[in-house]
Amino acid sequence: MGLPYPVPDDVTQPFWDGVAANDLRLQACDACGTFIHIPEFACPHCGSEALSFRSVSRQGALYAWTRIADPPDESFADIVPFTLGVVELAEQQGLLLSAPFAKPVKPVELTVGAAVEIVFASFTPQEATLPMIHLLGAGSQTVTTNGPLI
Ligand SMILES: [Zn+2]
Repeated sequence: MGLPYPVPDDVTQPFWDGVAANDLRLQACDACGTFIHIPEFACPHCGSEALSFRSVSRQGALYAWTRIADPPDESFADIVPFTLGVVELAEQQGLLLSAPFAKPVKPVELTVGAAVEIVFASFTPQEATLPMIHLLGAGSQTVTTNGPLI
């Protein structure tokens, strides 16, 4: 049983076209320049509907993460545990992208602000390509863990 994947619609199709081309393309407002993720029908900053997609650097800092140990449904049974992260992309403060890590990481080794980049990979060769997080370096803030939450 394959993993469930997002079904692109008219608004999100350019993002997924970028993923298929190993290119991280995010929606941006042509009026004020604000990057928008998840894609919207109008800019949440200025209200403009003049939106387009632009390639971004794929560089960012780890903002948050959680370890998924219990499969949300049986299709995830073969890939748990895995770590899901949230990355603040370098292009804009507060521009967040959530994605799984491309390789197993020990959550206790992760730090807020750790340098990461977005890569394109899949959980198994049979699964679809997704944006995934590759850990580049340590962050500036040490987080101590206590118990099995992370
Ligand atoms: Zn705008």
